Amino acid sequence: MKQFSVGIIGATGMVGQRLLTLLENHPWFNVKILAASPSSAGKKYKDATSGRWAMKTPLPEKFAEMVILDAAADKEKIAAEVDFVFCAVNMPKAEIKALEEAYAKLECPVMSNNSAFRMADDVPMIIPEINPEHAEIIASQRARLGTKRGFIAVKSNCSIQSYVPAFHPLMEEFEVTKATVCTYQAISGAGKTFETMPEIVDNVIPFIGGEDEKSEIEPLKIWGKISDGKIIPAVSPIISAQCYRVPVTDGHMAAVSVSFKRKPTKEQMIKIWREYEGEPQKLGLPSAPKHFLYYFDEDNRPQTKLDRDLENGMAVSIGRLREDSIFDYKFVCLSHNTLRGAAGGGVLMAELLAAKGYFD
Ligand code: NAP
Repeated sequence: MKQFSVGIIGATGMVGQRLLTLLENHPWFNVKILAASPSSAGKKYKDATSGRWAMKTPLPEKFAEMVILDAAADKEKIAAEVDFVFCAVNMPKAEIKALEEAYAKLECPVMSNNSAFRMADDVPMIIPEINPEHAEIIASQRARLGTKRGFIAVKSNCSIQSYVPAFHPLMEEFEVTKATVCTYQAISGAGKTFETMPEIVDNVIPFIGGEDEKSEIEPLKIWGKISDGKIIPAVSPIISAQCYRVPVTDGHMAAVSVSFKRKPTKEQMIKIWREYEGEPQKLGLPSAPKHFLYYFDEDNRPQTKLDRDLENGMAVSIGRLREDSIFDYKFVCLSHNTLRGAAGGGVLMAELLAAKGYFD
């Protein structure tokens, strides 16, 4: 496979740090540039992240001495030096849109972890095992932007990456019509640790701004179809979501109830989950888990602490499938929010697009 030079915009943040740990020894992607806000620009990476390195593994040595660039002021230089960038920044939405579009227009593709463009109808929001075909919309986006190779692709919100993977393989044959979802979300999803979010210790906070709405709407785009240069969102299933912040470091769990147009048996559901393969598995992408979905037979699994790291945090776990008194079934799902749900999902999306020639 061809080698690609990569920049990380927002390299000092929680997702940026995770991207660096994932890309340290990546077989295709070589990190050449680190960028962040003007307050980090000009500093060595080890100094800019001093006291806020939040990963369990040490800061990779090869990045420690790299000098951080200014994501906005140095964008021409960055776009000229790399084949594409990952972007994970904490800025107002309008500023993120302007920044990402500027990179795309400089012919530098953007793999975005941010929400700013998620609902744009010509920006693909890709979960590689579920809707890889949405990459085809890139041609329409390039036509709108007037670019030859520049484009923006986004990954979805981390909260939906536990239950959407579980619904997806059942959609065609049995059609999920409605679902309720209650998520128990880790503090790293807010870019926080227990040191920076002491109010979460011994506590549950029943509000994450905008998260209920995103958790209901984003799945419909994922299951949408391309028509006339736009991604037209699906109209079902109807999803009702409640998103809670809980005192765990990493891992978003979702308690789900679902109804189907044609009710499957439990055995059919478990077999389909265990056998499901997406395009990343078929293509053997470097970050793809061997098995995307794991079903646990044990009554007390999956557990956040025990199971979030399954297959390097890229697999999704499911358990406790049982009849529901209002819907057809209920079950629980778990995914690692900063791996599958953020940085890892972004790297897998980039691998998919690289394999399909979108960075050539
Ligand atoms: P974070 O830890 O707060 O990091 C924010 C990053 O943005 C830092 O690198 C920061 O640089 C940079 N930044 C802030 N203002 C900037 C500016 N004006 N110009 C350039 N860079 C600027 O945030 P995070 O948790 O990594 O999240 C980053 C993005 O990913 C957000 O859009 C978030 O919604 C999304 N996301 C996060 C997760 C998760 O699990 N954490 C999951 C999915 C999506 P400085 O250090 O220089 O300030």
